[in-house]
Amino acid sequence: MTPALVTRFAPSPTGELHLGHAFSALTAWDAAFAAGGRFLLRIEDIDATRARPVFEAQILEDLAWLGIRWETPVLRQSEHLADYHAALEDLADKGLIYRCFRTRADVASEITRAPHGPSAAVFTGAALPPDAEAERLSRGEAFAWRLSLTAARRWLGPAYDALTFQEAGRGPAGEQGTIRAEPDRLGDIVLARKDVGVAYHLAVVVDDARQGVSHVIRGCDLFEAAHIQRLLQALLDLPTPVYRHHPLLLGPDGKRLAKRNGAPALRALRDAGETAEDVRRRIADALAAS
Ligand code: GLU
Repeated sequence: MTPALVTRFAPSPTGELHLGHAFSALTAWDAAFAAGGRFLLRIEDIDATRARPVFEAQILEDLAWLGIRWETPVLRQSEHLADYHAALEDLADKGLIYRCFRTRADVASEITRAPHGPSAAVFTGAALPPDAEAERLSRGEAFAWRLSLTAARRWLGPAYDALTFQEAGRGPAGEQGTIRAEPDRLGDIVLARKDVGVAYHLAVVVDDARQGVSHVIRGCDLFEAAHIQRLLQALLDLPTPVYRHHPLLLGPDGKRLAKRNGAPALRALRDAGETAEDVRRRIADALAAS
């Protein structure tokens, strides 16, 4: 028996939802509905410096107004930090992460100076020698935990180059079907920082597994993320869902729809008396124009 489709919409409560978010949420909701599957809502509020309860409340109102229904309780990532730290510790025990003391500005300037130019460059590094590291720790210097792709390659052996995921939608360049995961496209990503205890990629793979998500349905701006998330699943012995990336709605300027290029907030549409059907019509029009 094929297991029922389980999918999720995972907004970060850092602003108001607009038409692009409605498209994403409705795509996942319609897929679950059509398959007689399950639709989950996950509030990705691990970045306490940006997440706001007021936006979370508004997200629930907007989604209900769109006709979407979700299972309760809603998973709120800020309530599961211990689980993400356990995953981080698992990676640390396997020797797969290292402390990086560079500031974001240091990393940006190193990437700019890379031999093949900034577009081809991603950051890769290594742990400092133990005495140098101990000294910086004793000075109380801030650091980020980075995933070491070199260590990951060593840990997985030949399996590293054989990692794949299924793309049931399309990537930004039309990628479909079995895709070879290329984590090196993202480099040694940050998995935890001082201000944000755990990074998006780690929390997402832990939660997609915990919630039994069979299909990750989301915008193709996150297609690249699947490459590194596939690696994290392998390193943490977690299952890999099917990915179904959908196109992004474009604004009148041909750029991805966003607040700054005039995407109306769902709340504004609601206040103006529009209905969920009007939103679906707007989405169809925007897709036709893209
Ligand atoms: N929280 C992410 C966002 O709002 C989405 C994560 C995902 O769908 O994997 O962009």
